[in-house]
Amino acid sequence: MQATPIVGAQNPLGCHHVPVTVLLASHDSSLAHDTGPRHPERPARIPAVIEGVRTAGIEVLDLRPEQADLSLITAIHSPDYVEDIRSFCGGGGGALDLDTHAGSASWDAALRAAGAGVQVADALREGTADFGFVAMRPPGHHAEWDRAMGFCLFNNVAVTAAYLTERGDRVAIVDWDVHHGNGTQRTFYSDDRVLYLSLHQAGIYPGTGSGGELGEGSGEGTNLNIAVPAGTGGQFYRKAMLELVTPVFDQFSPDWVLVSAGYDAHAADPLAGLMLLEADYGFMAQTLARLSVPSRAVVFLEGGYDLSALEGSARATVQGWAGANRFDRDASMGRMPVGLMDRINTLWSRYWDLH
Ligand SMILES: [Zn+2]
Repeated sequence: MQATPIVGAQNPLGCHHVPVTVLLASHDSSLAHDTGPRHPERPARIPAVIEGVRTAGIEVLDLRPEQADLSLITAIHSPDYVEDIRSFCGGGGGALDLDTHAGSASWDAALRAAGAGVQVADALREGTADFGFVAMRPPGHHAEWDRAMGFCLFNNVAVTAAYLTERGDRVAIVDWDVHHGNGTQRTFYSDDRVLYLSLHQAGIYPGTGSGGELGEGSGEGTNLNIAVPAGTGGQFYRKAMLELVTPVFDQFSPDWVLVSAGYDAHAADPLAGLMLLEADYGFMAQTLARLSVPSRAVVFLEGGYDLSALEGSARATVQGWAGANRFDRDASMGRMPVGLMDRINTLWSRYWDLH
C-alpha cells in the first residue's frame, strides 16, 4: 500500500508543507537474536515493523544503534545480572525461563536495543527529526532489576527514561502493550520524575498491574494502571486516552514522552484477547503527539506477534504521530467494560484533576 504523504500539522510556525520526519532505529543484530524454533518473539517481527514505518508516507531517517555503555544499563539493572547475561550468551545461551531465550548473538542485540532509545533521544535533541521509533529486539518492559522475563533481557524504555531523568527531565511512559510492563513499573515505582501509565489486559501474564498499584513514597500517584477485561476494543481505549491520559499528561507536563508500543492488543494477535485495530493505534499516537513537546518523543517496539497486524499498526502509529487527526473515525468496537472508567476516576482523582 502506498500511503499519502502527510504535511506537518504540528509545525509551531503554522506553515504547511513542512514534512514530518521520523528517526528509525534498527540494526541487523535484532535479526540475530535467536529465541529458538516456533517462538512468537521472532526475527521476522522486525522487517514487518520497519515496512510499516517506511510506508507511512513520511520521511524516514535511519539510525544504526551502537552498543549501550554498560553504565546506562546498570543504572536500572544489577551489575551482577548484566554480567550473568553476558556470560550466559557467551556460553551459547539457552532458556533463561520458560518463555525467555537467548543465544550467542543476543548479548550484542540486547546491548544495541538497550542503547537505541538513548541514542535516538540525543539525536532528537539535536533537531534531527520530529520523533523517534525504535524497531529493535529483544523487547524490554518485563525485564526487572535482576531478572529476565517475558522475552525481555534489558528494559530498553527504562534505560532511556533513567538516562533522561538523570539529565533533569521529566518523563512520561505510556505502555500500550497488552501485557503489563512489570519491569518498568518496578523501576520507577517510587520515582516522581517518571510517570508510568499502562493500558493492558487484566488477568494475563505477568499478573501485575491492578488499578490499586499507584506507586509509593514520593512516586505515589505517578504509577497508573488501566487493566481491561478480554474483548475490550478501541472505543474504550480512545475514551481512556481522552478522559484519563490527556488530563494527567496536561498536569504532569512531561519533557519527554516514551511509548512502550506493543501491538499484541490487536484483534489478530495470537497471545491475548483484546480487539484493537490499526486505526486505534493511530488514534492513540495522534493523541500522544498532541500531548508531547515536539521532537521529544520516542516509540519503542515491545510485543506484537501477528506480522500483518504489526506492519499495519506500526504504520498507523507513525501516521498518527505525524498528525492531521486522520484517525478520529473508525474505532474498533469490542467490549466497553462496565464501571471501569468510574473506578479509575475514583482511584486517580486522589492525585489528578480529571474534570
Ligand atoms: Zn506483550
